Amino acid sequence: MAENKGILVFGEIAEGKLPSITTELLGCGRKLADELNEDLSCLLASDAVGDLSKEAIAFGADKVYVVEDAALKQYEADCYMQVADQVIGQVSPRIILLGNTPMGADLAPHLAFRLQVGLSTDCLELSIDPGTKQLMQTSSVYGGNAQAIFTTEALPQIATTRVKAMSPIERDESRKGEVIPTKVAIDMSKVKTKIVGTIKEEVTGVKLEDAPVIVSGGRGCGGPDPYNTTLKELADVVKGAVGASRPPCDNGWVPEAMHIGLTGKIVAPDVYIAIAISGASQHMSGCSGSKNIIAINKDPEANIFKQAHFGVVGKFEDVVPALTTKLKELLAG
Ligand SMILES: Cc1cc2nc3c(=O)[nH]c(=O)nc-3n(C[C@H](O)[C@H](O)[C@H](O)COP(=O)(O)OP(=O)(O)OC[C@H]3O[C@@H](n4cnc5c(N)ncnc54)[C@H](O)[C@@H]3O)c2cc1C
Repeated sequence: MAENKGILVFGEIAEGKLPSITTELLGCGRKLADELNEDLSCLLASDAVGDLSKEAIAFGADKVYVVEDAALKQYEADCYMQVADQVIGQVSPRIILLGNTPMGADLAPHLAFRLQVGLSTDCLELSIDPGTKQLMQTSSVYGGNAQAIFTTEALPQIATTRVKAMSPIERDESRKGEVIPTKVAIDMSKVKTKIVGTIKEEVTGVKLEDAPVIVSGGRGCGGPDPYNTTLKELADVVKGAVGASRPPCDNGWVPEAMHIGLTGKIVAPDVYIAIAISGASQHMSGCSGSKNIIAINKDPEANIFKQAHFGVVGKFEDVVPALTTKLKELLAG
């Protein structure tokens, strides 16, 4: 292999668009590439990439490797690995970045094993050590109770990043880059799995991961009703989505799709309103990237108040309806 240089982002495509994880990876990759003074490449592999290669350039890529094949319509590791082998051989990157998504979480260990290098998953921060040019990879450890910085010596260094942990750069249509159509002869006899069907999660209203405001309820809500009344009314006023800590999902009060935390969804909205949630580390590791956390809890000693930017001590049955009424008034004026 040639000298390892530059950064290669494994872009994802969802419903004909670049999902936020791809623009986040490009934003992070751009910053690292500038620090290294090397190129940022992006791989887009799908049945139809279309103009998304230009979109990847607008979001920071210098080069976009486009692989189009009907076999790449949906992610399947044995197909993608054949694409990855060829493109990594062509680019010979110093660093490979993927999202900590179902695709990235599956593909990254395959890549690390194939290349016999290390891997850091679910990184919250990535930076370059100016002395060694090594990628310093920060992840949360011990169930979200601490953060550790990892690095590996073998190249390429591979990391997956947590959804919403990185920021995209501003889209700039005037950015110049190179689109490199790449032909990969996919050998279907090497593909050992088959997708027999996909089930799309039913979402009414704003999707939790995309909501700018999340109204999240905990065990202290006492049952399913507040999620459909008190919390939903507040969420509707602020055009947000309703989420939950793990116990309400485990108890069957709300669907599992609302579960936020270490074993649930990772969210980073502008405002996260934690209602009757104690603030256990496993919950906070799913929402600590929120720009503002507002806690409403009857226990002044609740851990959530140590993490929240704003807090109200009181019973949610009293505080939340009053907040909803006031917000309605303010937003109407
Ligand atoms: C391996 C592992 C993974 C886990 N993953 C997750 C995860 O992904 N997400 C997650 O959330 N948890 C997770 N947990 C569980 C986690 O440790 C906590 O048990 C859980 O987050 C507690 O949820 P809670 O805050 O809703 O409930 P509690 O800890 O029971 O807190 C309820 C809060 O409600 C307050 N309250 C009660 N009544 C009212 C009222 N009327 N008005 C206002 N406040 C009130 C109480 O003061 C209390 O602070 C995990 C645990 C383990 C071991």
